[in-house]
Amino acid sequence: MTGSRATRPQGLARRAWQLLHADAPTAGRLAEQALALALKNADGPAEAWARLVRGYHRLNFGTLADAADELCRARACFDAQSDRAGHILAVAGFARTLWRGGRYREAIDTVLPLRDEGLRVLRHAQRSVLLNTIAGCYSANGDSERAFAYMYEALRDAGPAHGHGLDAVLHCNLSNELLQLGDFEEALRQVEQGLGRSARMNNPFLRSVLLINRIICLTEMGRAAEALDDVQAVLALAPDESGRGGNAKHFETLAIAALAADDGPLGERLLALAEASPGAGLPDERLERVVAQALLAHQQQRLPHALQALADERTLAADDGVAGLSLRVRCQFFHCASVLHESAGETRQALADLRQWQSLHLQQAQRASRARYQAAALHTELLRLQHRLEENDARRRDTERARAALAEANSRLARRVDEAQALQEALRRQATRDALTGLFNRRHLDDTLPQLLAQARRAAEPLALALIDLDHFKSVNDRFGHDVGDQLLVAFGRLLARSVRAGDIACRYGGEEFCLLLPATGGLAAQRLVDGLLQRWRREAFELDGLTLQGLSFSAGVVDSDGPALEPAALLRAADQALLMAKQLGRNRVLQTALPAAA
Ligand code: GH3
Ligand code: MG
Ligand code: MG
Repeated sequence: MTGSRATRPQGLARRAWQLLHADAPTAGRLAEQALALALKNADGPAEAWARLVRGYHRLNFGTLADAADELCRARACFDAQSDRAGHILAVAGFARTLWRGGRYREAIDTVLPLRDEGLRVLRHAQRSVLLNTIAGCYSANGDSERAFAYMYEALRDAGPAHGHGLDAVLHCNLSNELLQLGDFEEALRQVEQGLGRSARMNNPFLRSVLLINRIICLTEMGRAAEALDDVQAVLALAPDESGRGGNAKHFETLAIAALAADDGPLGERLLALAEASPGAGLPDERLERVVAQALLAHQQQRLPHALQALADERTLAADDGVAGLSLRVRCQFFHCASVLHESAGETRQALADLRQWQSLHLQQAQRASRARYQAAALHTELLRLQHRLEENDARRRDTERARAALAEANSRLARRVDEAQALQEALRRQATRDALTGLFNRRHLDDTLPQLLAQARRAAEPLALALIDLDHFKSVNDRFGHDVGDQLLVAFGRLLARSVRAGDIACRYGGEEFCLLLPATGGLAAQRLVDGLLQRWRREAFELDGLTLQGLSFSAGVVDSDGPALEPAALLRAADQALLMAKQLGRNRVLQTALPAAA
């Protein structure tokens, strides 16, 4: 009923729905409780299901108008929940009120368009409710063949495990339809199954209909004596709360069985009950009543009486176009008429009746074979439909799976690209950075210097270049070890990195030599900057195993790009010469050089 956990009123309504056939009084009570709670809690799904059960319950125990009203409310509730399964069940119930009210065509037109969708959204007993409703519409329309076919399908969906008693109802309905088709053997089989299934159900109405169907089967098969126990059982059944248990007793049918079993007194009693009960206006009942009267009169040696009773309804029995008049009852009539006329010595009339009987029998046989064919055809059609639905589902699942796989592949790819980018970034850093100091390396300098030089030319701005060489670094290594040398190189790198501007490039040129590229900086400004660096470097103090290392120096050569256009190599050479000069002049200084004249 709902995908998530059911609320208490939903649970009550669900239980009520399941008990509709097996225990209608309890189902009705639970539905009332569920509705009261649902309204109090504003529980939409519970209200929908409670109303659905009330609607179906009223179909059997209330007026048709009340049932129709409640089923329309249920449908509106389901629509508010976008619950298509519920909607279909409510409409199916509503269609029942139509055919029970004699509006057969409208009923079938209401329910048939929901068949295919119902096949998709309904399961088991619920699907069976829909198919059974379609069957009921056809049956009421006199189309036993189609009714039979749909009932068979309905029964497939309402096995004992899921049927909640609906399967017993279906066995009963099927036996009814088979009786119309004259297939008494099969009808008897369905009745036995229905009786077996209904044994522990609280549904006296269903039980009486099943028993009466068995009585008809046995009578038609010439085994009326075996039906007498059932006759007593039907008589002993208490009417249910609607009183329908009583109305369903069909005293005419019971009387015919008793008389066929040669129990005259019982037959007479039953016929009296039939004549006393109201509403014997239905065509089948009228014919059965005269057959019972005729059989009784015959047994009482009042043959003219018997023949007169039959003559009164001969026109009705011979009419092919009477709605609600069944072939079985007409067959029974002419069979009885033929037997009685024969015993009266009226062989011509007996033969005519026999011919009528034979022709009706033929019609019945043809219907029966059409019904078998319909059942097979419908089964194939529904199977094919089911198959298509399943294929669609499978295709949809495939598409979803493919889409999920694609999404997974995409995100895997995105992760790879991220990894690759990170790797490239790392490689690029490794390619342009010096591992020890984190400054740019010489390769980067070689790549960048020509670009910066060209930019400077275009912008008509100077580019300064400084080459720095730490003084007496070999002796630092010698005195304190290579590791300490490394630490000093790292410290010097940090000093450079801290001191330059964002657009400047500081790199380790190699060993203890460093290079600064200072865009938009003239030679003098660069010299001042590097001088400042030298002061700071000289002030740096390093604590090494208890002794302090301080007063370190470097020498530097500074050059700027002002003047004649020079190649990067020439600029580097000029700075290197200034650096050499600084060393020669005693180190610990920064020398700026003017560029040599262009060659
Ligand atoms: P000068 O003042 O003339 O430049 O003397 P110097 O000792 O610095 O010059 P020289 O070129 O003779 O020696 C450079 C030394 O720098 C030699 C080498 O041991 C040291 N050196 C070069 N690269 C590294 C390095 O990565 N780590 C350490 N610890 N020492 C290095
Ligand atoms: Mg050196
Ligand atoms: Mg040196």
